[in-house]
Amino acid sequence: MMLKGAMVPHFPLRFGIRAGTISLALVGLLAGPVGYNRPMCLHHDLHTHSLASDGTLRPRALVERARQAGVDVLALTDHDTLDGLDEAQAAAADVGLRLVPGVEISVTWSRLTIHILGLQVDRACSELRNGLQGLQAFRDWRAEEMGRRLAKAGIEGGFERARELAQGRIVSRTHFARFLVEQGRAASVRDVFKHYLVNKKPGYVSGQWAGLEEALGWIRAAGGLPVLAHPARYRLTASKLRRLIGEFKDCGGVAMEVVSGSHSRDEALTMAAYSRSFELYASRGTDYHGPEKPWVELGRLAELPDGCAALWDSELWQQAA
Ligand SMILES: [Zn+2]
Ligand SMILES: [Zn+2]
Repeated sequence: MMLKGAMVPHFPLRFGIRAGTISLALVGLLAGPVGYNRPMCLHHDLHTHSLASDGTLRPRALVERARQAGVDVLALTDHDTLDGLDEAQAAAADVGLRLVPGVEISVTWSRLTIHILGLQVDRACSELRNGLQGLQAFRDWRAEEMGRRLAKAGIEGGFERARELAQGRIVSRTHFARFLVEQGRAASVRDVFKHYLVNKKPGYVSGQWAGLEEALGWIRAAGGLPVLAHPARYRLTASKLRRLIGEFKDCGGVAMEVVSGSHSRDEALTMAAYSRSFELYASRGTDYHGPEKPWVELGRLAELPDGCAALWDSELWQQAA
């Protein structure tokens, strides 16, 4: 299927990174098809959500839609839960698509919330399951606490309505935001976050998700590959982003999302440069949450920029599969 080995490694040095900073081992991994214009044999979308967290499609519907969109390899990466994986796996077998069992773990790093994907995880791993359970308990407590705090500020019924809006799924801040918009407290969900749900505002609840090292420990215990999700979305300064990527790598991180539904083309190029300077593999995913957000349709992503070492072409990927 792949032209592996048939192509001369191509490393354009477009981002001003000296060749000497890239190990020969990494350059050797670049022998797969690279670049925006060359066809890839398999179409990978390695970051998606279903109803099991805050997506809007059932896992089966997500898989079927991905297949129709031409995706060959799909990772389901719901927030802090593995609950959608069984249904997705069964659907994938039916439609002839390869499902990568995954999860997106919420991490508190330097007082920010960061997302770490675990790809190819063993869903039976008790260390991972226990860790995720703790995060779910925190999420539930936080939702109730947000309701209590809003009530104290004179806005009653928030938790109950947010839970209704969640329709049995995880109750997220977005559900509270929709409640507050319904109540006429703000013009838009974005407005709500600014006036109610951020630090020092009535609906803000502080707390800790998993630690970076802890989350990567769970993923590795489950035989999975840790991937830093949508790094450009955190809007970090260059030095802070370098610190995050460095710590992620030190804790055993192996890849970062370069092409993402959350990244512009320019951000993808910048993240490509980071992935090469830190010798991390590059990954790609839409972060699809449902057809309500048509601008990130499944499988509609550019290929990895030139010179990226694709995670799915790596030996680590083959070993974890
Ligand atoms: Zn995320
Ligand atoms: Zn996501």
